[in-house]
Amino acid sequence: AYLDQISRVDGEINAFLHVDEDAALAQARAVDERRAAGEELGPLAGVPVAHKDVFTTTDMPTTAASKILEGWQPPYDATVTARLRAAGMVILGKTNMDEFAMGSSTENSAFGVSHNPWDVSRIPGGSSGGSSAAVAAFEAPVATGTDTGGSIRQPAAVCGLVGAKPTYGGSSRYGLIAFASSLDTPGPIARNVLDAALLHEAFSGHDPRDATSVDAPVPPVVEAARRADVAGLRVGVVRELSGEGYHPGVLARFNETVETLESLGAKVVEVSCPSFTTALSAYYLIAPSECSSNLARFDAMRYGLRVGDDGTRSAEEVMSLTRAEGFGPEVKRRIMLGTYALSSGYYDAYYGSAQQVRTLIKRDFEAAFENVDVLVSPTTPTTAFPIGERADDPMAMYLADLCTIPTNLAGNAALSVPAGLSPDDNLPVGVQIMAPVLADDRAYRVGAALE
Ligand code: GLN
Repeated sequence: AYLDQISRVDGEINAFLHVDEDAALAQARAVDERRAAGEELGPLAGVPVAHKDVFTTTDMPTTAASKILEGWQPPYDATVTARLRAAGMVILGKTNMDEFAMGSSTENSAFGVSHNPWDVSRIPGGSSGGSSAAVAAFEAPVATGTDTGGSIRQPAAVCGLVGAKPTYGGSSRYGLIAFASSLDTPGPIARNVLDAALLHEAFSGHDPRDATSVDAPVPPVVEAARRADVAGLRVGVVRELSGEGYHPGVLARFNETVETLESLGAKVVEVSCPSFTTALSAYYLIAPSECSSNLARFDAMRYGLRVGDDGTRSAEEVMSLTRAEGFGPEVKRRIMLGTYALSSGYYDAYYGSAQQVRTLIKRDFEAAFENVDVLVSPTTPTTAFPIGERADDPMAMYLADLCTIPTNLAGNAALSVPAGLSPDDNLPVGVQIMAPVLADDRAYRVGAALE
């Protein structure tokens, strides 16, 4: 049914970069056979999944939506891919994204923009916008994504879905094409909180192949999603994450959600996190710095595209021609920004201060969580914007992640859940629930109570 839906609507939505019908059907049959042979299978066996094209897959190409990786076939599975395969999930295909996960709209994909199924003239969010568009268009029941600065929560919010950014290190980065390694976090996108929790639990947990993987039990998110109550919980509304720049309709839905939490028995207080207003600036130094280092591996020798290698040019010339043709404009902008910020003479002024701001943000979270169990805010300042509206204005584009970035810098957990449609434009609004490090289950408990 999902394959049929993909062939019906994906011409218009462009959620997928790669679909393999025969392989998907073969995987589904294999699960049937295992079940017929009496094998005990888990709750996700036979359930289709779409993977963001940033996770390596041994049976499908992986491009991170970049020309530089076009046609590249990875020799190994990402841990996320491998664990969901082992759970018996059927891979429908690979989803579109902003190139190397840099963006908030999928407009930075080298393979065309994805469209928001609620209004195809609008963006589905990004960078995991192919995953959110696929789930919102009923082309997949669940999908994987990655969240470096908001790339799961923001697309989930603007497509009316549930999306989680797990605690950093709670889900493995092994086999995830790196953007900013101290921030990159794999997570689920789903239509409801329980589905997101099932996926979250299935791919999470310690992985010795990821040096920053946390060796701790997986937070009990499925149990929390089933529990779905907030009685007695203390909820903090973050003062700095509302006001100017936020759509009135988004704030209206957010305030209603806060009232709902109160009526369900939560104790709501206002909390101030003053450093959050500086998070965006710190992020746009730290993320490009890490990206400039990570993307140095695309040297025209090891992966994908190679331009001008006709025997007359040096390796350096081939590298330069390949990177000039293979990377899109946003990726180049970030490499230049990051290289500059890390260069000697500027390191302390830019990268060093950004790291200090990061510490302040962590401290604001810690101080807040001494008095409340979770923090809440809108997930995004606005609903889905029209395709093209911010394409030539990187600063306007960066604002899409205003509310989500503090959590990435601090490494704690957050979940975005739907909060109804904005009265301004009838488009989905998302509310974000932030929880302390390794207390992901608390966010799921609150999110499920709101459904
Ligand atoms: N929009 C942010 C950026 O462009 C976040 C991206 C992400 O989370 N991968 O960097």
